Amino acid sequence: SSDFDTSRLKPIKELLDPAPPLLPDLIELSDWLSNKYCCSRIASLQVMLPAALKGKEVKYIALSDSFQAGEYSDKVWLQALQAEGGALSFEKLMAMFPQNHAEIKQALQQGILTLSAKVKDRMGVKQVLTVFPPSDLEAAKQQLDSLKKARKQQEVLQYLIEHPEPIALSRLVAELNTSSSVVHGLADKGLIDLEEVEQKRDPYKDRAFPSSTPLPLTGMQQQVYERIVEQMHQQTGQTMLLYGVTGSGKTEVYLQSIAECLSAGKQAIVLVPEISLTPQMVERFKSRFGDEVAVMHSRLSDGERYDEWRKIRHGQASVVVGARSAIFAPFCEIGLIIIDEEHESSYKQEDTPKYHARDVAVRRARQHGAVVVLGSATPSLETFMAASRQPADGSEPPLLPMPDRVSGQAMPAVRIVDMRQELSSGNRSMFSNQLYESLKLRLEKGEQSVLLLNRRGYSTFVMCRSCGYTAACPHCDISLTYHQKTHVLRCHYCGYTEQEPKTCPACESEHIRFFGTGTQKVEEELAKLFPGIRVIRMDVDTTTEKNAHEKLLKAFGERKADVLLGTQMVAKGLDFPYVTLVGVIAADTTLNLPDFRSAERTFQLLTQVAGRAGRHHLAGEVIIQTYNPEHYAIEAAADHNYEQFLEQELQLRMQLMYPPYCRLICITMSSERLDQLSDTSAKFVQELKELAEYEGVLVPLQSRMTRALEILGPVASPIARIKDRYRYQCVIKYRGSIDASSLVERAMKPFVEGKSSKQVLFSVDVDPQVI
Ligand code: ADP
Ligand code: ZN
Ligand code: ZN
Repeated sequence: SSDFDTSRLKPIKELLDPAPPLLPDLIELSDWLSNKYCCSRIASLQVMLPAALKGKEVKYIALSDSFQAGEYSDKVWLQALQAEGGALSFEKLMAMFPQNHAEIKQALQQGILTLSAKVKDRMGVKQVLTVFPPSDLEAAKQQLDSLKKARKQQEVLQYLIEHPEPIALSRLVAELNTSSSVVHGLADKGLIDLEEVEQKRDPYKDRAFPSSTPLPLTGMQQQVYERIVEQMHQQTGQTMLLYGVTGSGKTEVYLQSIAECLSAGKQAIVLVPEISLTPQMVERFKSRFGDEVAVMHSRLSDGERYDEWRKIRHGQASVVVGARSAIFAPFCEIGLIIIDEEHESSYKQEDTPKYHARDVAVRRARQHGAVVVLGSATPSLETFMAASRQPADGSEPPLLPMPDRVSGQAMPAVRIVDMRQELSSGNRSMFSNQLYESLKLRLEKGEQSVLLLNRRGYSTFVMCRSCGYTAACPHCDISLTYHQKTHVLRCHYCGYTEQEPKTCPACESEHIRFFGTGTQKVEEELAKLFPGIRVIRMDVDTTTEKNAHEKLLKAFGERKADVLLGTQMVAKGLDFPYVTLVGVIAADTTLNLPDFRSAERTFQLLTQVAGRAGRHHLAGEVIIQTYNPEHYAIEAAADHNYEQFLEQELQLRMQLMYPPYCRLICITMSSERLDQLSDTSAKFVQELKELAEYEGVLVPLQSRMTRALEILGPVASPIARIKDRYRYQCVIKYRGSIDASSLVERAMKPFVEGKSSKQVLFSVDVDPQVI
């Protein structure tokens, strides 16, 4: 009973979930998530759910209340709308009447039609009408005669007696070239059963995974394994760093630790970066744990993801292998969380909530008393520093080194080639003499090579060679990228497109051309240098189709090509025994980006790609072409020397005050009006400073105080305008136990709640990867 006026309550129409989709630990985690990353509670809850549960927003177009046909009375689209009861999905209507877009838009403006958003039903399980053969086959055989007059029914029954297994109605109909009414007729006579049966959308249903058994561990693997398992059984919630060179057998340690976790009745989460690019990784887990493995990544359809998610939620899977968001897998009792290649930037989400899966993992593991194992040959500086620190209780630091390869193979020899010298000795090709000779040797011996073109924005831009004009987006301060297939220029930020110009819009010169995607050019040059060479190119253009990656890699693994050429994608997790040469075409391309992590990223990428060579019985060779042969990141990568890189990089970070010596928060403000933006951002920063001052933490970082915080900005963002909105940013650097997120939240409050919220938008990035 209640005092509440029950007439104001609404009835419950339907129970959507017999079991709640979110468990208490995730709800608690969402609280932490929204505080730490300054996002709304709903955003942090939504990121934990599969898209299928969230429902899709669909725009509906409908006749307005004040509808009078008037001048539109004889229009076809109006008749279609009326036939549908006055409402249709906007997309559908536009697709039905491509000739009438202008009219429809005009009718919208005049208020004859209205546009509204409606949340469509959430996606459910997939039900398939299934035919069950008769349970008593002998009895059924006797019935066959009675069907003489219904030959088609007889045929179906005969088939089901011969193949007594449940079969989808649609398949049966196709197989016997019959109709569904025939089958329904049999069911009406009670000879067979027809039932809706759930069909799992399994992304790997067509794949067989040969089973694998645990390998006897090497001494080094055994030590590491024991430390992980010990922590797991003690439920310490500890985070450990498995710092092992490529080929040191980290994956085997993961697999056996997981086996131990499962036999203790607990579940395990494995995160791998860009899992859709590393089919080999999925294969190794499926081979060891079979159906216990659920897989989650962005290339699955919503339905497939939903079914994998439900497998986890309903206890039908105990291991999930997935990308970033798999950290939210709804397991009840997690024993182990593994993050492979923990330094990868794909663990940070770029949209709100801008969480880092590593930090979420650490937090979630504490809730469950689980162990986090971060694996990498080139750990991020933050992780390495944290893992090297002696714990307060005097125990060993949680650093697990594996410095040697299982195979006993030495790390491949790396040669640095100075491209400036190549140029001065008259070689204008993008292949140095050394790389050319090494490729030639591989072709003669029938061994394989991997070529990396280290380049971030894979696509390219159009520039006038006469006046230097570059095609830029009219709405964003960024150059347009050229798409060769369609001959259009496109903005990657707002989607604006225009036709490729024939002459320069600025000086009318005809010497306007696009500067190639790189990989295509390399491919052309390879064909010229080595006629008949078989090249597989892997970049955005060749991998748009579903499973394209997998197919290309499979073909390469079957030695159907001599060279695998590509962007960053070819550096990751590949393990091919016949690859004995790795060539880096231009190591510098990511070195000079205005980003405090650019040296770290370059070092990581070079180390990673170098690890692709000579992984098995054949020795490997690596050639790095560069214009900066003395750069410490390149030298250290060539020496396979992480510590050497670490030492130099830490010095620089210390001098310039960047992580791991402090933490960062970047706040981006945007508005269509520049004056308003500069005004609001200045006021916001003032507010922030006052709050920090009041808390006594506004202190220079170079001081000796344990708690210090600096505020930089506001200044224009690196991309100063996107979608016609100007952008300013302000960066907070801080160290010590300061709740900077809460400070930002409080300073922002008057600006996002007040009337001005429409004009100036705030976006907060806590622990940004790039600033
Ligand atoms: P990482 O993940 O550290 O790069 P992997 O786990 O891929 O290394 O191991 C490299 C190779 O060594 C793989 O082919 C793997 O099957 C093999 N390997 C790993 N552990 C063992 C072991 N204990 N005995 C024999 N081979 C092993
Ligand atoms: Zn020009
Ligand atoms: Zn744009």
